[in-house]
Amino acid sequence: MTGFSYYFTLRYIQTQYIINAFIVEKIIAKANSRCGVLASKLPLKDLPIDLVLRIFNCYVVPLYRCGLQLWLGSCSSSALESINSSFTKFLKRYLGVPYYCNNAITHFITQTIPLTTQLHGLLDAGLGAFTLPASFSGYQISFLSDHRPIEPYNMCELIPSHFWRSQMFQKLPDRFRNRKMLMHDIFDLDHEIYCSRKGFHLINVHDCQCKVCGQVMTHYHKIFCN
Ligand SMILES: [Zn+2]
Ligand SMILES: [Zn+2]
Repeated sequence: MTGFSYYFTLRYIQTQYIINAFIVEKIIAKANSRCGVLASKLPLKDLPIDLVLRIFNCYVVPLYRCGLQLWLGSCSSSALESINSSFTKFLKRYLGVPYYCNNAITHFITQTIPLTTQLHGLLDAGLGAFTLPASFSGYQISFLSDHRPIEPYNMCELIPSHFWRSQMFQKLPDRFRNRKMLMHDIFDLDHEIYCSRKGFHLINVHDCQCKVCGQVMTHYHKIFCN
């Protein structure tokens, strides 16, 4: 490859990334706006999770499907993270937990997978009506061959080990108040009430000490505190 063609290839890839980032940014903004409208018009918080997910798939996912084959395979990892973040924020609002809570635990509780993993599964679905003339037999469209292989989503590997000590449940409560109380325990959100350290921080056995019993605080200390 000559210097010029190498330069123009790089410029093309760079421009493509910028265009895709712009498109993804617009789609996410629209998706977030639609989530807001749904939350204001429908009693989402008091509906069962399967119905809430069906509403999301019906009204929000189609926004991402617009031109999906063109942008999904060639957008940056930060853009993909933004898409996933938009979905986990929707789930966390439903669960009644702060946005900083662990994403893998959120997916485990709601029995979902990251949105980009879902979208990768939809890549071929939109090509049913896409046909080429017979004279193009044997050719492949460039944007279809550019798709990066999707990494399998291994939920259990991403869930922190302390989570398995939390209480379990048969079914997510439909009532928001009950669900929020349950999630408060499962995500260990009582830590800051018991911990002597001030402000937002990650749990650290060397620094976190219980104000009630004076013991070192680990995850789910409330269960062992006396
Ligand atoms: Zn602490
Ligand atoms: Zn204690």
